[in-house]
Amino acid sequence: MAIATVNPATGETLKTFDALNAGEIEERLVRSARAFSEYRLTDFAQRAGLMHRAADLLEADQEGVARTITTEMGKTLGSARAEVAKCVKAMRWYAEHAEKLLADEHPEQDDVKDSGAERALVRYRPLGTVLAVMPWNFPLWQVVRFAAPALMAGNTGLLKHASNVPQTALYVEELFRRAGFPEGVFQTLLVGSGAVADLLRDERIAAATLTGSEPAGRSVASIAGDEIKKTVLELGGSDPFLVLPSADLDKAVRTAVTARVQNAGQSCIAAKRFIVHTDVFEQFSSGFVERMASLKLGDPMDEETDVGPLSSSKGRSDLEELVDDATRRGATALCGGGRPQHLPNGYFYEPTVLTGITESMRIHREETFGPVASLYRVADLDEAVALANDTPFGLSSNAWTRDPAEQEELTRDLAAGAIYFNGMTASHPGLPFGGTKRSGYGRELAGHGIREFCNATTVWFG
Ligand code: NDP
Repeated sequence: MAIATVNPATGETLKTFDALNAGEIEERLVRSARAFSEYRLTDFAQRAGLMHRAADLLEADQEGVARTITTEMGKTLGSARAEVAKCVKAMRWYAEHAEKLLADEHPEQDDVKDSGAERALVRYRPLGTVLAVMPWNFPLWQVVRFAAPALMAGNTGLLKHASNVPQTALYVEELFRRAGFPEGVFQTLLVGSGAVADLLRDERIAAATLTGSEPAGRSVASIAGDEIKKTVLELGGSDPFLVLPSADLDKAVRTAVTARVQNAGQSCIAAKRFIVHTDVFEQFSSGFVERMASLKLGDPMDEETDVGPLSSSKGRSDLEELVDDATRRGATALCGGGRPQHLPNGYFYEPTVLTGITESMRIHREETFGPVASLYRVADLDEAVALANDTPFGLSSNAWTRDPAEQEELTRDLAAGAIYFNGMTASHPGLPFGGTKRSGYGRELAGHGIREFCNATTVWFG
């Protein structure tokens, strides 16, 4: 895949970039290792000062960065602005909380004595250079979600960003440099995915984190496993959205639409499978379809637009194949189901609701990375849970019920890394984020996230 900015709203190639050659990659690896040897000696106050400065600069750059994001991957300008604001918040959150999250831990005195020590503690020390392989769907947030905790922990970072967001990737490197982080602490590598294997095998890379597809995750994890290097994987999702009889239906319908079409449906935590109790099915379905059908599709720079294009021609054709497979096998599109006639250029796809989905259809088990909802009717809670868990993925889940007994049962039974009741899944700096099953492993954000790339060192004093 060429490293280039292609405007998904028009299909026009705006700028292309040469991939780094072997010598240029080597220079950056040397710089990164050198930077780590010094940067790991900085204290939390120094790192926090730099991170706050980066957050301030990013805040000031918000409009320009948001426009770059929209130009490169097609999300609406409003949501790109919100993404930038969220990054500023997360940087400040880690600047303020890292020292407490990584404070020395003191085991129980009885256990210390039992080990024969006078005293013992656990110290969280940085690992070294972490390689981040990141996707285009939240091109700034995915990077900051890795970089803010990693840098606050004293690690250095190397970013291999998706090939379709090079300008955003270069911006982040420049941001950390302008904020005063020492040279080499955070660098962007403009390389294709073919360069990742050698990087993972390089001894100067200590660990890796990847957000993206299952094949990419499998490749990175297997090479890193071969090298005995720590990885965190955040892969796809096919989150269920359960609607049960006690739900506030108006709110559930409105939230369902946002949860499905946010980022033109290209979010791992977007709700994708809408599983509705038969008692409220008709009411939910009619409201949901009506709202999905009335969304305004168009230029993502236009403030009136609800849904922009998909990020690439390939992304759209993948989605089309899933929908076509389903309708060929008997599913019905209650709205949408194709390309909008009035937008012949760019990679647009109509907000779509499919019903009549069966197990034989690919869409039943695969991730739909676009504005296509699968709508299911179930007879009771047990059937809802069984269907919700009938997926290879386990990222997040949403359930609409005001019944405390049902909430308890769902908290016990839904196989996912998060369960959101009466609201839609979103990531927050202070809440851990990650999945089970094929959605990956490890956690980002909160204390869990910052500790993933630390060496939890037992220090024992005799
Ligand atoms: P990819 O997983 O291909 O891309 C994500 C990142 O991984 C990019 O930086 C990409 O580089 C890199 N990459 C791809 N293949 C490899 C590999 N074998 N080894 C190392 N790095 C690799 O996602 P796509 O953009 O192709 O999207 C395909 C599907 O993946 C989507 O339809 C969706 O289902 C899922 N996805 C999930 C995301 C999430 O948020 N969890 C985000 C994006 C996609 P390059 O761009 O150079 O190929």
